[in-house]
Amino acid sequence: MSEVLVLVDHAEGVVKKPTYELLTLARRLGEPSAVFIGTADAAGAVKDNLARYGAEKVYVVDDADIKGFLVAPKAEALAQLVEKTSPAAVLLTSSPEGKEVAARLAIKTSSGLITDAVDIAEGGITTQSVFAGNYTVTAKVTQGTPVITVKPNAATPQEHTGAGVVEEFAATISEAARTAQIVASQPREKSGRPELTEAAIVVSGGRGTGGEFAPIEALADALGAAVGASRAAVDSGWVPHSYQVGQTGKTVSPQLYVAAGISGAIQHRAGMQTSKTIVAINKDDEAPIFELVDLGVVGDLHTVLPAATEAIHHR
Ligand code: FAD
Repeated sequence: MSEVLVLVDHAEGVVKKPTYELLTLARRLGEPSAVFIGTADAAGAVKDNLARYGAEKVYVVDDADIKGFLVAPKAEALAQLVEKTSPAAVLLTSSPEGKEVAARLAIKTSSGLITDAVDIAEGGITTQSVFAGNYTVTAKVTQGTPVITVKPNAATPQEHTGAGVVEEFAATISEAARTAQIVASQPREKSGRPELTEAAIVVSGGRGTGGEFAPIEALADALGAAVGASRAAVDSGWVPHSYQVGQTGKTVSPQLYVAAGISGAIQHRAGMQTSKTIVAINKDDEAPIFELVDLGVVGDLHTVLPAATEAIHHR
């Protein structure tokens, strides 16, 4: 059975959840192999977890040049690994970095590229939501090694013990790939909440909050969720732009999306309509958001959200 390479998305050695989702999806196409770009020590610390979610092999690319530069060396290392292993596909997370690495890799290997898949079926057929969510497209790469980026939460990580055999891979990084050096990198302030695009649950607030995000945050914290917002809330200066969900904000696809005081404009839907379960709280029973919900609550969010939060705390 062919290998399927999965680029491990990690921050300072902590593997992000979407990587385990990719390993689960990779098994539909062949034998998952994780590609860890970082130090051998860091790889050693995470290899058991990667194996637990199905990695038969863990390729370690330990090269200081890769860490010190932006994405080009990563793409180069992956391309060399593709040449060596002739995998059935390469899967990456649909993060800005993942997509850039994927694009460069596809060019280097003369392969077809599919971005932002929300599912991958056997045979490598992907599902995507395009044109602001107006179409669902199934697609398949027909040339080279399929390079596919997958949105977080596309699959539930499933334990499937793999051998997790560590193999060091010495990549040759060209001068041409060392053109953009990282001069400084500062970790972002952490809120203690999950990253919006990776969270399994997102609670978002809109103009209907009137700028009062405390009930949104309280429910989010009770659920271990990330906080999102509509553009109206962001433009009003109530929350930072990094919270914005939608066409000109972030695209999320969590297991559960709670929209409170959000009308459901097409541009907002574009960023959240592939969520697995959608719940809306709106005091207008004709709000368009109710067209796409699994559960709708007609009511004032300032009453409904605290009641829901209290009920969760009492469980
Ligand atoms: P509104 O549409 O004003 O809706 C507020 C809702 O809150 C109403 O349905 C109301 O009934 C309800 N409400 C009021 N009070 C309460 C209460 N106490 N309890 C419960 N419900 C209450 N928007 C995005 O979100 N993301 C984007 O990325 C985005 N990109 C855009 C790009 C372009 C090019 C354009 C033109 C627009 C974009 N927009 C985007 C804006 C979008 O069109 C809407 O204007 C915006 O989504 C509206 O935000 P809202 O739902 O919070 O506000």
